[in-house]
Amino acid sequence: MCYGAASLEMLDIKIGSDGRIAEIGPSLPAGDAELLSLNGQLVLPGLVDMHQHLDKSRTRALLDNPSGTLMGASAAYRALAPSITKEQMIARARRTVEACSARGTVAIRSHTNIDPQTGVRGVEAMVELRAQCAAFMHIQIVGHITSGATSMLPESDAWLRQAIDLGIDAIGGVPAFSSEPVALLKLLFDSAERSGLPLDMHIDEHLDPAKAMFSEIARMTRAYGMAGRVVAGHSSALSAMPSDEAQRTIEELREAGVGIVTLPAANLFLQGRDADRLPPRGLTRVKELLAAGIPVAAASDNIQDPFVPTGSGDLLEIARWTVLGGLLGMSDLRQVFEMVSAVPAQMIGLGADWGIRPGARADLLIARAETIEDLVAGGAPERTVMVEGRVVSSTTTQSHLSTP
Ligand SMILES: [Zn+2]
Repeated sequence: MCYGAASLEMLDIKIGSDGRIAEIGPSLPAGDAELLSLNGQLVLPGLVDMHQHLDKSRTRALLDNPSGTLMGASAAYRALAPSITKEQMIARARRTVEACSARGTVAIRSHTNIDPQTGVRGVEAMVELRAQCAAFMHIQIVGHITSGATSMLPESDAWLRQAIDLGIDAIGGVPAFSSEPVALLKLLFDSAERSGLPLDMHIDEHLDPAKAMFSEIARMTRAYGMAGRVVAGHSSALSAMPSDEAQRTIEELREAGVGIVTLPAANLFLQGRDADRLPPRGLTRVKELLAAGIPVAAASDNIQDPFVPTGSGDLLEIARWTVLGGLLGMSDLRQVFEMVSAVPAQMIGLGADWGIRPGARADLLIARAETIEDLVAGGAPERTVMVEGRVVSSTTTQSHLSTP
């Protein structure tokens, strides 16, 4: 079966020796090609996790976050960071990359700390990891100005220049952490303009509309001519605004060409802990953003660290939480699949390399499910993952029930 057609249908997919899809059609002649019989399983383009933190992944057992807040998580990691070696970072990150691969992810964009404790050590580690994992995962690295670095503008500018020289794929950071948020935002835009790299930032991961920076981001996106190349991750504060103000803000973001990534795991864990009752969900206004036609992706964010202690690396799980945490509806299962596949693929610039079409890389998720909606709703007991035409992971589950 083939994803992308008007309806699901039985088709053959021929993969060339270059690892790319050569041909798609009913009953293609096999010739001397090696055959992989899928027996009617769903064939989907591989999943794209556009917002993770591989450098911090799996530090859960090494620290604690007693308050369960974003500030608590940041402080906990700050205390641990000086002692983490590049090798430890790579080893832990690799376990997460492998877990994600086994569950169908073919590309990960990793926001990598640039902070006073580690400088660009994390970026160096991720550059090495990117090379190590290239055969089974396309990794992108965001230079992520965070923690105390957000208020050290000259130093952050120098660190970003080093990170760009090391080969990062995007510029990011957390303006809300800075004592000079607008100045940091400008530094990030300047850095993007100078390097030609896109921006993928953590924006307003809090629930205080008075501190929201959306209008400033929309203004700078227009001023720097970066429509379609700016991503605002989280954008939680949008949910804390009255709906008329939120609608005006959404319209500004749409006109400016800013994309949004929702991170339900982190938002559900970190936000709303000070609520006396009825704690908020902390997600951005997913429904309203989608209705406005703004590209909205969903992603894992942190996996087993002080920011989110859980996480299996399964993007379908994140898709489910987007439905549940984002108050989406029964008919949105297909939509959330797009939010962990086609939308992030476009947002991180995979372009024609991604998808089920002739010429695209054969990066595929093959799953035993009747429909995409079924797969999102309940997962699949069997998954095979292919990257550039090679099977990189295959899980088959046989029934343990014996029939008499
Ligand atoms: Zn993040």
